[in-house]
Amino acid sequence: MTRKVLLLVTVGQPATSLLRDLEEPLATHLGLSAVASKTVLSRPTYALNESRAQYHCNAIMRRLVTLLEPAHALVLGVTDVDLFVPDSAFVFGEADRGTRSGVVSEARLRPGASPELLRRRVQAEVLTQAGHLLGLSYCEDARCVMCQAQTPQDVDRKQLALCNPCRNELQKLQR
Ligand SMILES: [Zn+2]
Repeated sequence: MTRKVLLLVTVGQPATSLLRDLEEPLATHLGLSAVASKTVLSRPTYALNESRAQYHCNAIMRRLVTLLEPAHALVLGVTDVDLFVPDSAFVFGEADRGTRSGVVSEARLRPGASPELLRRRVQAEVLTQAGHLLGLSYCEDARCVMCQAQTPQDVDRKQLALCNPCRNELQKLQR
């Protein structure tokens, strides 16, 4: 089976190295082939909500979609800016299957994290959002990477892997 290609895009100045940190987990756990975009997006001022001092996920995702080329199935941005969607105080990330785009931020994953721990947290949340792009839902299993994390500690409880039911679901989706 040919692997779906996920385009990874730097948005702003995250510490995460797109291919070095994300290529292997995306391939191993989701069967995705990651490529890094040659285009690096600067801090997304167009997405800034000034009263919240946060950046709107959907505005960033609309920009990411414009980078999709025929070879790419999906696009995911990795950023350092603090993200929100209207109903939440903040989000670690967001994904929309319809537009095949998602974004993950380091901003709320940084507290108390060494560079190594931050890298692991970003890996986990990138897997979660990429899993959504492939059609997986949130999972109740706190150790599954598809579990919805509310705090960095929730993220740290997750394994960098799908639970068995989610793995089976992914296989069904890929049939
Ligand atoms: Zn699961």
